[in-house]
Amino acid sequence: AKSTGRDRCAVFDEAMREEAMRILDLEADLRRAINGDGFVAFYQPIVRLDDRKVIGHEALLRWRHERRGLLLPAEFIGLGEDSGLIEEVDWLLYAQAIEHLAHDKGGGYISVNVSPRHFLANDFADRLLRMIDRAGADPHRLRIEITEVALLDDVPRALRMLRTLRSHGVLAQLDDFGTGFSALSYLHRFPIECLKIDQSFVAGLIGETQPESVAVVRAIQALAGTLGIHTIGEGVETEAQRIALRELGCTYGQGFLFGQPAEVAPKLVALTR
Ligand code: C2E
Ligand code: CA
Ligand code: CA
Ligand code: CA
Repeated sequence: AKSTGRDRCAVFDEAMREEAMRILDLEADLRRAINGDGFVAFYQPIVRLDDRKVIGHEALLRWRHERRGLLLPAEFIGLGEDSGLIEEVDWLLYAQAIEHLAHDKGGGYISVNVSPRHFLANDFADRLLRMIDRAGADPHRLRIEITEVALLDDVPRALRMLRTLRSHGVLAQLDDFGTGFSALSYLHRFPIECLKIDQSFVAGLIGETQPESVAVVRAIQALAGTLGIHTIGEGVETEAQRIALRELGCTYGQGFLFGQPAEVAPKLVALTR
């Protein structure tokens, strides 16, 4: 029995070692890819729920890894955050999105994701605004997506950041709304353009969890109503979800029903389908 235990330990150690090597490997690859062209922006449409008119796109990060193929953020963002590298990757993505805006004649917006730590970095707004200016892009067509964590960690700083960006035309939308410890009483203090209803509630609108999800979405809609802002339902996969969201008062939606994230540069011009 003892030797079985030791064998099991050996197997476990080996697995840990391999995992550690894999992470080190990936981190070295990450550093290399930052200097190459391994990171690309995919774009997913955001539409008006009633007529599916495209009003903007969210830029989503993808890593085209030499050996592992196309990697999703979940597979490397944690790593990038731990090593501080994700901020550099984010700037590569923002540059692509802003470049894209500068060359597109349409009127749609592109939203980019900003991690909380990155958002609260001193030079974030200045650097973003400089990048927009240099590219000759319209700042009103770029939006940032942040989560509640980014707002509540350092309220005065977050306020300053949002006001600076907004005064130059860059609006903010609150991502994954409903999943955090929503400090609702704080929300009215922040200049937020839109609440993105987390996809877990959208998924829950159909099926067993329907009552709970409907209650949450209703509460979010009521809140958005008092703040005078719109909502975007995330992860809309079915027509039933689209209709349910619309009936609950949600204006916009995003999800596989309307379009997958795709590399093909979208025509950002709002098209009526
Ligand atoms: P998120 O901001 O909540 O982005 C939405 C995620 O839902 C995306 O996953 C998107 O591909 C996925 N999605 C869209 N429609 C549907 C649908 O109908 N059904 C389902 N099941 N999923 C859908 P993705 O691209 O894997 O990104 C995951 C997360 O990684 C994002 O969540 C965001 O937090 C983060 N992320 C993505 N791009 C960036 C970036 O450039 N910088 C930073 N810092 N984070 C990023
Ligand atoms: Ca997002
Ligand atoms: Ca989200
Ligand atoms: Ca998320």
